[in-house]
Amino acid sequence: MFLHWPLILMLSIVGLLLGSFLNVVIHRLPRGESIVFPPSHCPRCGARLGPLELIPVVSYIVQKGRCRHCRASISWRYPLVELVTAGLFLLFYLRYGPSPQFLFYASLATLLVPVTFIDLEHQIIPNSLNLTGLAVGLPLLLWLRPLTWSQALLGLVAGGGLLLVVATLSWGGMGGGDVKLAGVLGFYLGWPLVLLALLLAFVAGALIGLFLLATRIKGRRDFIPFGPFLALGAIITLLAGPEMVVWYLSHLR
Ligand SMILES: [Zn+2]
Repeated sequence: MFLHWPLILMLSIVGLLLGSFLNVVIHRLPRGESIVFPPSHCPRCGARLGPLELIPVVSYIVQKGRCRHCRASISWRYPLVELVTAGLFLLFYLRYGPSPQFLFYASLATLLVPVTFIDLEHQIIPNSLNLTGLAVGLPLLLWLRPLTWSQALLGLVAGGGLLLVVATLSWGGMGGGDVKLAGVLGFYLGWPLVLLALLLAFVAGALIGLFLLATRIKGRRDFIPFGPFLALGAIITLLAGPEMVVWYLSHLR
């Protein structure tokens, strides 16, 4: 454990602020809007948000989830995204401490938040997000060396390749965005950890898919996006992967 409180406080604030920016990405990217201009505004009345209204989570609670100008309700997704981003930062920090791995994996987590929420709402994983993952990951790999080149490249090919096979066999149940995302995850997790992430994604997808069918929340013909499961598999693998493998192997005998 690396309980250095000033650093933990700083990471929480950075995570919340980054989450606030990710909210903008999640809302605007699938709508083809610029993520830098215009400044944050209420989608209903267009009122520009002041500095106090931009404080993550706190502003939502103070305003009781409503726009201060027109009283339109604000989606609970906004504080959730901010809390999830900060929470991931803290979990990765507790797992890896102040290390190259932390920076590398926190970058991936920052990418997976908009991937998950956009895929849930629009059933797409924008190419620009997958490309950003590689564009950020390549220099970080060179700089931080959290894993070797061959591990990263082999992970990319294995992750993308495996999902390409599954996507081809699943007749449209899985899209090109999922294949590319699996490649990006492979790049960050490397060989062989990417295999565990994909396995966890398939298991979680099957379990939750069955649950949604059994409870009739989703019908047989409904589409269940796979991106969130890939993200979940990667994050669990990064937080607990080696321990899970050791536990599994120790129970084989
Ligand atoms: Zn408004």
